[in-house]
Amino acid sequence: MISLEKVSQLCYNITESYLSLNNSNSIIQETQLTLQNSRRDILNTVFTNWNPFGSKIAFSYNGGKDCQVLLILYLSCLWEYFYTFAQQSQYGMEYMQFPISSVSSVLISNDVNFLTMEHFIKDTVDRYHLDMYDFSNAKNSVSSKKNMADLFQDYLDDKSEIEAIVVGVRHSDPYSENLSLIDMTDEGWPNFYRVQPLLDWHLTNIWSFLIYSGEPICGLYGEGYTSIGDIDNTLPNPNLNTNEKHQFYFSEELKSAFNRNRNQSTEIGIDNGDQDFKVNLSNLDKSDRQLLHSYNATYYPGWYLIDEKLERAGRIKKP
Ligand code: ATP
Repeated sequence: MISLEKVSQLCYNITESYLSLNNSNSIIQETQLTLQNSRRDILNTVFTNWNPFGSKIAFSYNGGKDCQVLLILYLSCLWEYFYTFAQQSQYGMEYMQFPISSVSSVLISNDVNFLTMEHFIKDTVDRYHLDMYDFSNAKNSVSSKKNMADLFQDYLDDKSEIEAIVVGVRHSDPYSENLSLIDMTDEGWPNFYRVQPLLDWHLTNIWSFLIYSGEPICGLYGEGYTSIGDIDNTLPNPNLNTNEKHQFYFSEELKSAFNRNRNQSTEIGIDNGDQDFKVNLSNLDKSDRQLLHSYNATYYPGWYLIDEKLERAGRIKKP
């Protein structure tokens, strides 16, 4: 497994490579702009408020597509921040040591996760060197079922040095229209700064960058899921049922994906005309495959849905 320094450098190379795509495709152009803005926000505002090599900032990660995009971008900025500092130093780059070996992170986990997601989280926690907080160490250990705010409180009771938590929320998420890059938590929540560099990203930007990155993506997205919650309240998006034909918007990204040959991809591709090119998906767990069989329907992969009003249409209570 490569080090945090190396994976941050890889994420930097992915970001730079995406930004240098010379393409008339409007999704790519728009994503390049929004990527530049988020990168500037992270480097010029977030990292000047909270040193990313210090102990006051943490990353909230649940394996979803939005926080994965943000994580790639965050790590890319981490490397850029280090590199810029190292360049200014009187010593050569080869004498500079990357100051941290992992990124302080928090996952509010539930006990009803898809196993595919559990495995994906485990693999990516290792891949991206996330130092995931272990709730069994919480001073006020979980006694009864607690909500998200309570669990953040448990986390902060223990990690009192944390001031800011990076979150992959977008303006199109519920109740998020009025958020800004840095917001204090709402009433009823423990006090911390929510750092939200992805607010202006749209669904098309997320898929464009993630597919181009060549990084492994949670396998559930290949099966028609578009937003992933608990196993008992998340279905494949009904709008992606293969009864109706859908368009594939990301062939440029797929064809020119970063370091494409590196990937050991799993199959995707429903009639996209690009059968040779595959999105890099994590393996689907057997139990989730069986669950999908039980629906007696097939679905286009999640990235065939670009209307963000429908993004959470699969997040419903099962009858
Ligand atoms: P998707 O919507 O496809 O599941 P996602 O999980 O990244 O992707 P949201 O569900 O909209 O996006 O959540 C927004 C952000 O909130 C995440 O990117 C993550 O930073 C944070 N978040 C959400 N749920 C959790 C959780 N259980 N633990 C830690 N962070 C979380």
